[in-house]
Amino acid sequence: MVDGIFRLGLVCEAMFRFIRLGGKKMAALPLEFQKRMKNLLGQEYEAFEACYDKPGFRAIRVNPLKCSADALRGFLPFSLTPAPFATGSYYIPQQAAGLGRQPLHHAGAFYVQEPSAASAVTVLAPVPGDRVLDLCAAPGGKSTQIAGALQGQGLLWSNEVVRNRAQVLLSNMERMGVRNAVVSSCRPDLLCERLAGYFDKVLVDAPCSGEGMFRREPQAVKEWSLAHTEACAARQLAILNSAAQAVREGGVLVYSTCTFAPVENEGVVSAFLQKHPGFVLEETGLSGGRQGIPSCGDGTPSLKKTRRIYPMDGGEGHFVAKMRRLQENSNAPASYEFTAQKKPEERLAEALYKELFSVMPYGSIVQVEDKFLLLPRELPDLAGLGVLRAGILLAQKKKNRLEPEHALFMASKAQESRQKVDLPLEDPRVYSYLHGEEIGISERLKGFTTVFVEGVALGFGKASGGVLKNRYPKGLRNLK
Ligand code: SAM
Repeated sequence: MVDGIFRLGLVCEAMFRFIRLGGKKMAALPLEFQKRMKNLLGQEYEAFEACYDKPGFRAIRVNPLKCSADALRGFLPFSLTPAPFATGSYYIPQQAAGLGRQPLHHAGAFYVQEPSAASAVTVLAPVPGDRVLDLCAAPGGKSTQIAGALQGQGLLWSNEVVRNRAQVLLSNMERMGVRNAVVSSCRPDLLCERLAGYFDKVLVDAPCSGEGMFRREPQAVKEWSLAHTEACAARQLAILNSAAQAVREGGVLVYSTCTFAPVENEGVVSAFLQKHPGFVLEETGLSGGRQGIPSCGDGTPSLKKTRRIYPMDGGEGHFVAKMRRLQENSNAPASYEFTAQKKPEERLAEALYKELFSVMPYGSIVQVEDKFLLLPRELPDLAGLGVLRAGILLAQKKKNRLEPEHALFMASKAQESRQKVDLPLEDPRVYSYLHGEEIGISERLKGFTTVFVEGVALGFGKASGGVLKNRYPKGLRNLK
């Protein structure tokens, strides 16, 4: 009897491919998925299947707004090996633990991002001064990557339709010190209609069936079905149809997914191009991964210009397509109206800024209710678009005072701060500060003081009598 059960176990093991996560058997690969992948990959299927016996790739991306790769390499207790899909993306060893609790992670020096996920922004190729829309942006891997490439110049509009995910996106944008962004939670059709023709570059990193995440998220395996991939494709096409409006004439639309499903990849691109003959496919410029497969879409040979990345290529799985809008788009959204006359309290906020930093404010200071924002100088009208944040939150009015905000310090640079403590990574005060405790500092410091770790802004506090009162936000603290 026991022997029978044992043999049955072996048969099942042979019929279903199990995924192992950290050596633990997690879930079987769906048979229909296996069948389709065999058809797609032919002789390479064996190599593909063998990947599921190994752990997934792990990588981080350095944040050039706050740190250089060379500096980061010197501070992290593990090796960084360049990944092939994006500048600044590095493989890290499997055993690298507790990344989210690392002080330099709190400081926004790096972002944990699966290596092939970084490929879409390489294809989008944002440059300083561009206007970029990231339409499905939470939790912010690609938005923070775009922000790094923009170097504070131009505008990044990061949208996430699911409100609580948009909050996570905002928190990540603040951690990474992004100054020139708008974060919104708006329906893509509404947003793109209002901002028609405004953007040089639009990214649609669409919600998908997540086949490329099977090794990391067993839930994606459980939820998988052919019907689900088809439902995802219909939703993806609807999002892309909206996105098309937001692209200026000559601008670029990049579409990406983390699935291998033909219907969600070449299938969606084919359907989109049939509906929008004013867009053409271009080469992605990626060297990693391999050509798209025309027969996975409507057979058009140019679908070869899209890119597929499999685990055998060094990433968990991604699909990327680059399309250029040739058709004119004469719509121009209304501009945000900055009033020439400053309100008295906006002057106070400007005085506070100058008290804290030795440079001129990098945006226009605008009061919205009890909040003071440093807004990018050129903006479209924001009204009715579910905006959670535009620019940087500089200060809030509390009773009759202006209190500076954490985000302002996170986006600051060491050379600009009038008062700072810069702690080495191994200084126990770094952890005390992240736990929310007071820390001892020079008696010479008085008032608001930026806290840096190895030159990377971590937060702020208020100095008095040789002690720094902690202002690290409660929700971000490292609990013991
Ligand atoms: N680009 C993000 C990053 O790099 O961190 C990941 C985006 S994730 C693949 C897709 C996002 O689309 C999710 O945050 C999801 O909430 C959002 N989404 C879900 N349904 C949507 C819809 N109908 N329209 C637009 N976005 C949607």
